[in-house]
Amino acid sequence: MTDHILWGATLLEGFDTSGGPILHENAGILIRDGLVAALGPLDSLRAQSPEAVVEGGAGFAVTPGFVNAHHHVGLTPLQLGSPDHPLELWFASRLALRDVDLELDTLYSAFEMIESGVTTVQHLHSRAPGSPEAVLAAADKVIGAYRMIGMRASYSMALRDQNRLVYEADRDFVARVPEALRPALVAYFERFTLALPEQVTIFDELLRRHGGGDRIRVQIAPANLHWLSDTALETAAHLAERTGLPVHMHVLETPYQKAYAVKRSGGSALAYLDRFGLLGPQFTIGHGVWMSEADIALAAERGVCVCHNCSSNFRLKSGVAPVNRFLAEAIPVALGIDEAGINDDRDMLQEMRLALRVHREPGIDSAHPSPAQVLRMATEHGARTTPFAGQIGRLSPGMAADCVVFDWRAVTWPYQDDALGFVDVLVQRAKARSVHSVMVGGEWIYRDGRFVKVDREAVLAEIAERLSRPRTQAEIERMGLARDVMPHVRSFYEGYLDGMGDDPHYRTSGRL
Ligand SMILES: [Zn+2]
Repeated sequence: MTDHILWGATLLEGFDTSGGPILHENAGILIRDGLVAALGPLDSLRAQSPEAVVEGGAGFAVTPGFVNAHHHVGLTPLQLGSPDHPLELWFASRLALRDVDLELDTLYSAFEMIESGVTTVQHLHSRAPGSPEAVLAAADKVIGAYRMIGMRASYSMALRDQNRLVYEADRDFVARVPEALRPALVAYFERFTLALPEQVTIFDELLRRHGGGDRIRVQIAPANLHWLSDTALETAAHLAERTGLPVHMHVLETPYQKAYAVKRSGGSALAYLDRFGLLGPQFTIGHGVWMSEADIALAAERGVCVCHNCSSNFRLKSGVAPVNRFLAEAIPVALGIDEAGINDDRDMLQEMRLALRVHREPGIDSAHPSPAQVLRMATEHGARTTPFAGQIGRLSPGMAADCVVFDWRAVTWPYQDDALGFVDVLVQRAKARSVHSVMVGGEWIYRDGRFVKVDREAVLAEIAERLSRPRTQAEIERMGLARDVMPHVRSFYEGYLDGMGDDPHYRTSGRL
């Protein structure tokens, strides 16, 4: 393969051990076999590889590709008909969503991610109905879409074996609803009731097919404490030990989940997971909004990562994660856009800005994340939560050539004072429209504002055509089920939070 040199007026290599950005001026990377072979001034790279194709230029800036460390679906629940609800009601509301072809669906959000600089996604596939064969076929559709567009993806199929609609056993919830509603509810549960050994078989098959991939890898995703029996938690811990793969788990996303953990274990969700040996540097907490001070101390002690899903926490009324406390304890924090960001899309630059601004506690000397910390979340720390850890997230020699090329003139036009450093300007001003090109493993997948390998307009037209067809009978029945079951889901949570006395991590306003 021909060597390439990619250079810009500014190159962000990554971050040093104290979190400071490592910047190079008028510098680039020499790319060989998909990896960064060398880094430095343009002249020295040319001397090392005189035949190399030189790309980039003085009007550009080059950064490591971003990692969206928590992602589920393509077309958003809102697009498909479910308004935002608190998570616990949202599960029911989302029963009504239309069926979308998984390849088209995955491409839809991949477009949005890539055009905002995302090169790697942690795809958490929450549920696929049917037999093990059907579940594997669904996984292959998602993975196939990432292969098609050229994105790097860590794929997981959620492990869960109980409490599928509310935080109690399916059969107990069925018993709460009127008799007329029971057959439809039971039929729904039966579509998603694979036994634990079958789920392990699916995981092993996914690992066999994709575990050693260059751009696609697999990881373990126990869905959330309430969704896993003790046996399932033991199974997840065993899989992690057997494979050495990272684990990503929704934990303490909402106050109801905090209350659930108390009801189940008499204590905190995190302390309970620790009993199963799950917590360690390979473990990432998705959300972690309701972590107590003791949880944060335990997470720091065990070396776990947290994935901060800022937009999602706002949209579903989950609360504000104590990110300032995580950072104070040196817990690596990744960023995830989850189902969709604050604008109902997957714009990583915007998500970074939201994370930057949300944790500004009032007070002259109060804590808040810096732009450099946020950019590190979106690169190196996100990378750390995936099976590509140590291979992506920075542009040092030996790392994968996953990078974003910004049209820096567009970012700074018509003026940007140089009193502010590169990272400050990038995180606070760069928009998706100033992302010029995106490279994964040395290959351009987005170039000068166009997708190289997939025709975006054709995919969108196909989605539009398919969803313009009338709803299927199954979709109509699920809409009815969503509507009919909602009051019973709502009543299940009445009084659920009684007795929970919370003293917030952040003081955002005062009433006395
Ligand atoms: Zn999630």
